[in-house]
Amino acid sequence: MTKITPKTFPKGIKKSILDGLPDYVKDPKNYSKIQTALLDALATSHSHSDLFEWSICPACQDKLKEFRLLHKKFGFRNPAQYYAWKKVMDIIMNPMKNPLVDWKNDKQQIGDKTK
Ligand SMILES: [Zn+2]
Repeated sequence: MTKITPKTFPKGIKKSILDGLPDYVKDPKNYSKIQTALLDALATSHSHSDLFEWSICPACQDKLKEFRLLHKKFGFRNPAQYYAWKKVMDIIMNPMKNPLVDWKNDKQQIGDKTK
């Protein structure tokens, strides 16, 4: 019987889902501009009470297509990557929500060895 050691199974390639995003998108200064552009691409003056009505409305579907194309233009490969980017940007833009930092004492709570 073969003994299983840490070298038996090669480690998987650790690659972040955010790899490959353009620098413009990674810059927090451009976050609101990108979000505004994406939401403007989706917005219409229509108001559909039924999702089915929305799904057969040509104007709204054109807007949805525009919205998807704009995501591609910004460099997002898939919705998961977009939401991961959005999550990271939300933490950067709203540091008070970040649970890793104790803002009252201005110290990192985790991994801080100065305490
Ligand atoms: Zn519509």
